[in-house]
Amino acid sequence: METEDYPRTVLEFEERFASEEACREYLFGLRWPEGFRCPNCGWGRAWETKRGLHRCPHCDVQVSLTAGTIFQDTHKPLRLWFRALWYVTNQKHGVSALGLQRVLGLGSYRTAWTWLHKLRRAMVRPGRDRLSGAVEVDETCVGGERPGKRGRGAAGKTLVVIAVEDKGVEGIGRIRLRRVLDASAQSLAAAVQATVAAGSAVRTDDWGGYGTLRSAGYAHVVDREGGDLGESPLPLVHRVASLLKRWLLGTHQGAVRASHLDYYLDEYTFRFNRRTSRSRGKLFYRLVQQAVTIAPVTGQEIRGGTTP
Ligand SMILES: [Zn+2]
Repeated sequence: METEDYPRTVLEFEERFASEEACREYLFGLRWPEGFRCPNCGWGRAWETKRGLHRCPHCDVQVSLTAGTIFQDTHKPLRLWFRALWYVTNQKHGVSALGLQRVLGLGSYRTAWTWLHKLRRAMVRPGRDRLSGAVEVDETCVGGERPGKRGRGAAGKTLVVIAVEDKGVEGIGRIRLRRVLDASAQSLAAAVQATVAAGSAVRTDDWGGYGTLRSAGYAHVVDREGGDLGESPLPLVHRVASLLKRWLLGTHQGAVRASHLDYYLDEYTFRFNRRTSRSRGKLFYRLVQQAVTIAPVTGQEIRGGTTP
């Protein structure tokens, strides 16, 4: 059974993660919640070597606690990483690379920038569920100067499909965001299928690109524009779209390259879907847990060979 063990306050955090040993112990518990398992032979026990590796007594393989996680090959103390994770999850709207660099006293902006990108990749839970029930779907343009819809051909803009669960009187449930190349039926149907479970009631406007949803297994509800007061027919999506844009402009000052947008969308989704979480410590716990279960990525891969 999973027990959610996390610090509740900054003091609890500071006291608990004051040493490398304490950080390693925490990572160990999240990486191998049922105890060490040898990745080579499946043996259920290991000896710890002087260099801090776990040696399987059965097949002699040596396993690093951080190998295969986002902490792989790091030269910085885990204590510093833990502080980054704590800070990132405790800032409601997230943090810029410059902000993180200052708080941690990192010598290089690039390190802060790379760390944030690594953490963003840990914000997507592998195999996460799709939305269900009543769901509003629409696309919006992100990253351009002018506001606009569908923006086919608009320079510097990226089209993002927004899916929002409509929880009735409770308001907005979970969201999913997905970048698409265009507003064609093919792109939109693929985006909906990736984010919304079949059988859900998907509400869209009357754009023809959504015309294939019914045959894809959804109960498709078309909301036609032109209400009495000129109200938006898809209020939940439009609320999320404006919050997303404000976040990109505020926290990140709009400095998000199209090639990195997916990861910012993941971060926004992570934060939004946990916006009502009472404990920020729980977000910290989730992020560490996901950080040890996703594959590592190098700074080079993140930058795509170019300087941020
Ligand atoms: Zn083994």
